[in-house]
Amino acid sequence: MPTPTRPSSPLNGNTLPFPDLKLDAEDEALVAAARAVIMAHHRPFWHTVAAAIRSTDGRVWTGVHLGATVGRLAVCAEPVALGRAILEGDGTMAIGVAVRHRKPEEGQGPPDVVSPCGACRDLLLDYAPDALVIVPGPHGPVKRPLRAMLPLPYRR
Ligand SMILES: [Zn+2]
Repeated sequence: MPTPTRPSSPLNGNTLPFPDLKLDAEDEALVAAARAVIMAHHRPFWHTVAAAIRSTDGRVWTGVHLGATVGRLAVCAEPVALGRAILEGDGTMAIGVAVRHRKPEEGQGPPDVVSPCGACRDLLLDYAPDALVIVPGPHGPVKRPLRAMLPLPYRR
């Protein structure tokens, strides 16, 4: 996958040393795939977040968050999707996204795009250091290099 290039003009007011890239139709389809999973499998507390990963070969793998009675045992949706990409696909990740089902008090609307948590940033960097991630932006979802989301990952 080619390294994303900096557009000629900033897309928004982000002050980070990399641009927020606009979503294309494939990215929108990836968000839609994640949203469809959480709309179909949402269970308050148990399954509130879904993720979708597009492999470098264009296939899409989805996963759902696994809530747990012991909170620290919960598993994010991204590693579930990554496991499927490894077992059922070629194990690559060109881009990924996670979406969270709204709580009743948050009103109507599609599941919101959410940033990967720190642990998922570290994990995904191990497997796909050149991937992009779709994250919330000031005017809607944008994509960023995963590497830029965690410039100093854990190393042994
Ligand atoms: Zn996570």
